[in-house]
Amino acid sequence: MPSISCSVVSCSYNKDHSCNAHVIQVGGKGACECSQTCCGTYLDCANYSDLAQYTDNRETVEAILCRVDTCAYYGNDRCMLDSIQIGATERVNVYTETECQSFEKK
Ligand code: SF4
Ligand code: SF4
Repeated sequence: MPSISCSVVSCSYNKDHSCNAHVIQVGGKGACECSQTCCGTYLDCANYSDLAQYTDNRETVEAILCRVDTCAYYGNDRCMLDSIQIGATERVNVYTETECQSFEKK
């Protein structure tokens, strides 16, 4: 199962800079650079508390779903990498301020 290193500690799914969601959805169809991608699964911990505290410290996710068809690692609405990096800052207000830093233009 893939793992996600994530710097966005304001997300409810973040635990020690790893993602503890079951599945994430990366968005940014047609993106040309990292800043045009985002993690659509982001949940602000100010509104949703710390969901990661209820997980088993998995440090892996079941799947990385992705809409970024312009990325070299995209295949069939999924990411083909075993691990990715989500960022870019520690605290964001909305999911569109996150980005997939593993994006590589085809
Ligand atoms: S922003 Fe996305 S990758 Fe990061 S912890 Fe939240 S759901 Fe996981
Ligand atoms: S590396 Fe590419 S295919 Fe994988 S999640 Fe990021 S943008 Fe999507």
